[in-house]
Amino acid sequence: MSWELVVKNKFAAAHFLEHYKGKCEKMHGHTFEVEAHFKVDTLNQSGIGVDFTELKNYLKEILPDHKVLNEVYDFSPSAENLSRYFFYKIKEKYPVSKVMVWESDYAGAVYFED
Ligand SMILES: [Zn+2]
Repeated sequence: MSWELVVKNKFAAAHFLEHYKGKCEKMHGHTFEVEAHFKVDTLNQSGIGVDFTELKNYLKEILPDHKVLNEVYDFSPSAENLSRYFFYKIKEKYPVSKVMVWESDYAGAVYFED
């Protein structure tokens, strides 16, 4: 038996893509949506794998709300790089299986380990 728990949150931030030619080389903003998936195979007596409240609080804590992402991170803050960064950050505490970062309603990146 296994379950995948999902929590999501949003943050607003500015970024630009480094070493890139195109409209995203200029500073612009997004409301990013982050979805974190957790794999659990046992439930406690309440029927809970990992408490959603705990997961949501932790996700909120690590999201860089109202920041300039290029000043916060030492990598080019693409959706791909952000999803990988959040994945390993969450993995320090919880059994994360994948992290998805949406830059808009139509485009995003998912990071998971092969
Ligand atoms: Zn962008």
